[in-house]
Amino acid sequence: MSVAELYMESRTPQTSQQQRGFPCWLMLAAFMLLLFTGQALANTGDQRTFHLQSDMDARVMTPYMQVLEDPDSTLSFADIQKPYWQNRFRPILNEQTAHGVSSSAWWIRINVANTAETEISWILEALHNITDYIDVYQLDAAGNVSAQQLGDHRPYAINQLPSEAFSFPLNTRAGEHQTLYLRFNFEHAGVINLYLEASTPEAYVQKQHIQGIWLGIFLGAAVLVMVYTLFLMLSIREKPYFWYLLYASAAVVMYLALSGLGYRYIWGFTPILADAIPHFAIVAFYCLAIQFSRSFLDTDKQAPQLDALLLLLLGVTAFSGILLIINIREIALNLLMLTGLALGLFPAIGIYLWSKGQHQARGYTLAWSIWSITVICGILRFQGVIPTSNFAIGATRFGMILETILLAFALVDRVNILRKDKLAAEERERIAAQQATDQLESKVRERTRELDQARLHAEKLASQDSLSGLLNRRAFFQQGKSEVHRAQRYNQPLTVMMLDIDHFKQINDQHGHAAGDQVITTVAGILNDILRESDIKARIGGEEFAVVLIQTPRNKALHLAERIREEIQHTPASHQGNTVNITASFGIAEVTSEIHGDSTLDQLLARADKALYWGKNNGRNRVTGYTATAGETETDLL
Ligand code: GH3
Ligand code: MG
Ligand code: MG
Repeated sequence: MSVAELYMESRTPQTSQQQRGFPCWLMLAAFMLLLFTGQALANTGDQRTFHLQSDMDARVMTPYMQVLEDPDSTLSFADIQKPYWQNRFRPILNEQTAHGVSSSAWWIRINVANTAETEISWILEALHNITDYIDVYQLDAAGNVSAQQLGDHRPYAINQLPSEAFSFPLNTRAGEHQTLYLRFNFEHAGVINLYLEASTPEAYVQKQHIQGIWLGIFLGAAVLVMVYTLFLMLSIREKPYFWYLLYASAAVVMYLALSGLGYRYIWGFTPILADAIPHFAIVAFYCLAIQFSRSFLDTDKQAPQLDALLLLLLGVTAFSGILLIINIREIALNLLMLTGLALGLFPAIGIYLWSKGQHQARGYTLAWSIWSITVICGILRFQGVIPTSNFAIGATRFGMILETILLAFALVDRVNILRKDKLAAEERERIAAQQATDQLESKVRERTRELDQARLHAEKLASQDSLSGLLNRRAFFQQGKSEVHRAQRYNQPLTVMMLDIDHFKQINDQHGHAAGDQVITTVAGILNDILRESDIKARIGGEEFAVVLIQTPRNKALHLAERIREEIQHTPASHQGNTVNITASFGIAEVTSEIHGDSTLDQLLARADKALYWGKNNGRNRVTGYTATAGETETDLL
């Protein structure tokens, strides 16, 4: 072994792998690899030859590929032709074309044979569209080499085929055996995926065409949804819409970067942009994904501790962006993959808030689950845990767009739920306010009723004579006067009756003042019993009573008085076992037609009083009616 070869020995792939260490999150990948080890060992035999066919349609090259890692990216095409390096090419185990973030150059060797009668034109396509440099060397049996170069750090214009994928048009003559060498490399570091497919030009064009249709459908839908959301944002003016639009824009840029379309149509003219835009699209995409989630789920209010974690994640992601700028690529990209995996756990946040009664989290949870599956699968594919396939590549890209579309629906769902919640809360508030008003109103009514009762009670007390329960003098004149006026106005009969207990002084003297009071009460009771409710009954002096008899002519009044007089006479009062006989004298005066117009209550009372005193002077215990025609002192005896 030469000194040079010894030197090279020290840089063999295995050694480098140990030196670079094994990131802990790759443990899962390692575990998966172990699962396949048995099968893998069977694959280490001689290299299989890829036999070209005239009807190849996206044939996967992986089983025919052997790989060599050049950690320092120093080996040239001439170097690897040396037996030392030729012996170090290894087959790809279990379709693991991806090797995570790597700064190495990766060489691929493929033996190709055309056993057909005619020359075959075919296209070799590298589907991982963000690789900086891809070189292809075609070595024929005679030792002639032809080379092609692609990669997004080279201007798009050098592409021989109009495609966003890195596609190499190749020719293999009839019966010819060739060896193809491909070199994949990033300027600093990047996600290596060596996945290759071979197609005939016809199949290739067909595939491009169908991809174009899908692209149109997905990007078209995404743009439509974004425009729709833009209008929604302008009318609703809610923060989640704003973040959604930024996030969706980043997703579209990310899609353009991953699919190679951005390189092909937008930034392919300069390596600086071709390098910067995809990387910063990832940083922006992740940062905005976190920010959008915070805004959508309102975590700073609903779950402040969780929100702090999200802010930390946001900080780490932004920090990766800084590492990218200062070209510490490997750490930056690995950090970004960690962020991606963390973002994959976000549906758990949605479920947590949803279970806490935040129903608006449901749309987010569903849409973000698609995101999680897409991004986690994408990252596991980049790490080589999941094999790369044409379908897996398409699924990652389209899943991202699909999720963006679903999120727009989630936003609408969110607004609907929040609006319903708001309406329900308003309805609750309205009912509560109504109940409060009702309660207040009923309280006011009750209080008013109490006040009315108190007022009536006070009025009654003010107009009542406390001993007899009849009206007092003041109330008698008040009510009596209006009745007299009424009778005069409608020309209705009305009489005034006066009553004075006979020899009351003697009752007081003989039986005591309390017995006198008892007598007054007894007489009042009799008046209440015999007279109508509507008559105005009052005690207007010590043992003097007066009654205004409404709608009662003189005659009837005289009879009524007589009944009362008899009742009094036959109802002795009893006091402390003593029986007190009572009699009373009555005077009656009527509003008559002759004096109509000028008889007042005072005049009527005066006349009744005169009649009463006539009765007193003529033996007491009698009823006397006042007769105007016979002179004021004349009486009418029954
Ligand atoms: P006459 O038959 O002429 O009416 O004689 P009389 O004794 O009933 O009349 P007089 O006016 O001389 O006496 C009335 C007495 O009534 C005088 C007073 O002491 C008494 N008196 C006045 N108010 C009350 C009262 O509220 N309770 C009691 N027990 N006595 C009263
Ligand atoms: Mg008396
Ligand atoms: Mg008297």
